[in-house]
Amino acid sequence: MKYIGAHVSAAGGVENAPVNAHGIGANGFAFFTKNQRQWSAKPLTDENIENFKKNCDQYGISMDAVIPHDSYLINIGHPEKDKLQKSRNAFLDEFRRCEQLGVKMINFHPGSHLNKIKEAECLKRNAESINWILNQTEGVTAVIENTAGQGTNLGYRFEHIAEIIDLVDDKERVGVCIDTAHAFAGGYDISTKEGFRQTFDEFDSIIGFGYLKAMHLNDSRKELGSRVDRHETLGNGLIGWTPFEQIMKDSRFDKIPLILETPDPDGWPEEINKLNSLSDK
Ligand code: ZN
Ligand code: MN
Ligand code: MN
Repeated sequence: MKYIGAHVSAAGGVENAPVNAHGIGANGFAFFTKNQRQWSAKPLTDENIENFKKNCDQYGISMDAVIPHDSYLINIGHPEKDKLQKSRNAFLDEFRRCEQLGVKMINFHPGSHLNKIKEAECLKRNAESINWILNQTEGVTAVIENTAGQGTNLGYRFEHIAEIIDLVDDKERVGVCIDTAHAFAGGYDISTKEGFRQTFDEFDSIIGFGYLKAMHLNDSRKELGSRVDRHETLGNGLIGWTPFEQIMKDSRFDKIPLILETPDPDGWPEEINKLNSLSDK
């Protein structure tokens, strides 16, 4: 069983996200629990929460197929103490929103060292931030996304992610989301069958499939190893359909949200149809 969705709009209230997901033929989805470009947001109302749960129920969307994305402002590996705390507080607020909504995980990018601290120190801060948050929350898993490695952004190597996980106290509540465009731009050639196999063998030996909690399915506008993050519609970029076909036929990717973050929302129903047609069922 595959859960396929997209990062849908939650404009007008989080309760609209499952409605929008259903509208494109998705059985899973990602969304922002608050405006992703602002530090603070008003609390969720009882009505938001009730309707979110009701709409997920009504459209048969399992909570295992739902994974919100954190705000782009957050850097939980920030080199400066006050800014690090600001990020931690904002991230904690997002965990609390997940708790309220009954959402079981949230994904985020490892922070950036901004050339002010060493890589290892930044990875350690990321883990300390995760520990700080997991200690104050319940039932929500912190899902680390691999990045394209733009600027001073860490997380483009599986080793970075493994190092963070290693320093997290509660291994039951930490996981990984692999973004295909980020992997490709980060230097993992998943565009061929053989490259895909090698990449996920490496993933399994360095991190472990047990930690895989979600995938972001995107083609890439930028070259292999470019370290530039530009998503493209599936099949229209430099990756092509090969890895998506592999994913759809591989049971290691069952029962986790497979989320499109491709640039054309009008094309999502077609991308979802095509993905479903590739699965063995
Ligand atoms: Zn992301
Ligand atoms: Mn992504
Ligand atoms: Mn991206």
